Amino acid sequence: MFDSRIKDLIAGLNVEIKYSSQLDVEGTYLASLNWIIINSNLSEAKQYEVLLHELGHAALQRGETELYHATYALHAKMEADANKFMLKEEVESYLAEHGKDGFSAVKFLERYNLPLNYERLVLDVVAGM
Ligand SMILES: [Zn+2]
Repeated sequence: MFDSRIKDLIAGLNVEIKYSSQLDVEGTYLASLNWIIINSNLSEAKQYEVLLHELGHAALQRGETELYHATYALHAKMEADANKFMLKEEVESYLAEHGKDGFSAVKFLERYNLPLNYERLVLDVVAGM
């Protein structure tokens, strides 16, 4: 179901992945339990995107729940970091399949059904690889 890199990451973080149809959000990371809960009503591709985003929170921000709620600016930065983490994983698997030559951020985003306003972030991610 998940590729081996994601499996390793989940195992390394010792995070438990749960699914629920009762969530009123797409997904959430519960730092106190180290659980990721994903809304099972989403499409499979969207669930994967949400999983990567939440893994970003788990990998980068475990133990920073207080910061997350401290200020809007910090909250926004942590959301952006989690999105960057998600995009990095998606870009890596895209490049493994298509190669880096002639990479188009827009084509990549369309392929993964991601919002086109991530273009700048994708270009940053690719530049940093
Ligand atoms: Zn988030």
